[in-house]
Amino acid sequence: MTWAPWVDINASLALTKAMTAWATEATTAECRLRCGVLGALSTSRFLSYQGLGHMLNAGGGDNLLIVMDVARALVGAATNEDGAPVPVAARPVGDPRLLSDLLAVQEHAMALLIRQDVAAAEAAGAEPFEAWNPHTVALRALGETHGQRQILAATLAAVEAMPDGPARAVAVDPTAIYTPDELRRRVPWLVARGLLTPAQVGAIDPALDALAHRLAPHAAQLAEAFAELAELSGSPLATNDYVTAIAKSPSPTSTETSAPTGWWATRAPPVAHYRPGQQPKEPAPPSIVLVLQRCLP
Ligand SMILES: Cc1cc2nc3c(=O)[nH]c(=O)nc-3n(C[C@H](O)[C@H](O)[C@H](O)COP(=O)(O)OP(=O)(O)OC[C@H]3O[C@@H](n4cnc5c(N)ncnc54)[C@H](O)[C@@H]3O)c2cc1C
Repeated sequence: MTWAPWVDINASLALTKAMTAWATEATTAECRLRCGVLGALSTSRFLSYQGLGHMLNAGGGDNLLIVMDVARALVGAATNEDGAPVPVAARPVGDPRLLSDLLAVQEHAMALLIRQDVAAAEAAGAEPFEAWNPHTVALRALGETHGQRQILAATLAAVEAMPDGPARAVAVDPTAIYTPDELRRRVPWLVARGLLTPAQVGAIDPALDALAHRLAPHAAQLAEAFAELAELSGSPLATNDYVTAIAKSPSPTSTETSAPTGWWATRAPPVAHYRPGQQPKEPAPPSIVLVLQRCLP
């Protein structure tokens, strides 16, 4: 195995690029699904942004190699000292500081384990490649855990820096809602080491529900906060009257870019007419298969 020199150049910037590219892919994929057939239309542009995230796995340096190089530096810095004890039982599972502490513990434990294994292999005469190569999966997990902790720290600091008031009160919840979600992914590791109690595991889903209920009344306010960014996306879905905007948009497929504006007006199903239990009005919509065949790249 060879190492890319990302830590020597700028570990923080490189890791931010890697984590952001993965988050872009995941977020746009989720948004596409949540928008139903409109998410599948290339004119909605989700696929373009998902593709951007995908492309940035390689652009600016390979994500996997970046994350592994960051992890190698963490392994090099790992000491045998125990980390500070985590006040596990004292904090609810919806508290982002609990996640932050647990990520730090996990990061330290994973780094130490790899360090001990590599040292043992080298002491037995293994070449660097033989010593490190069996740990590529663990190195990726370590690098990602470190990246998640950095993201959480930056988000908590940004919220902390906001002046007291209603905006800050709303901003706290999207940060908190990430906590039980991320904890759930790590339950086996944390429970196996006694860092999360069964009672806390049982509290994860209720905590998620409670946070979602608290956030729901502010959904419009949050959407408004991101309105300018949504407009920059160039997607017709970012407009208030997105049905008309899609109807007026040119052909969504690259092979039909010469189609006149209003292509959708004659071919798109009358989306606004669909209601549960109600048949669409004339003109009859083309079959969904036909729509997808025409629209997907
Ligand atoms: C849009 C775009 C713009 C770019 N602009 C520039 C630029 O301006 N300047 C520039 O110099 N370069 C640029 N690049 C190149 C970019 O830096 C490289 O594509 C990137 O570093 C990956 O290298 P590669 O393409 O040779 O893939 P490879 O390194 O061959 O990787 C191919 C696959 O193998 C995996 N892999 C590679 N090594 C290992 C390993 N040791 N262990 C396990 N898996 C491994 C990778 O994860 C990947 O999945 C650009 C790339 C893109 C996509």
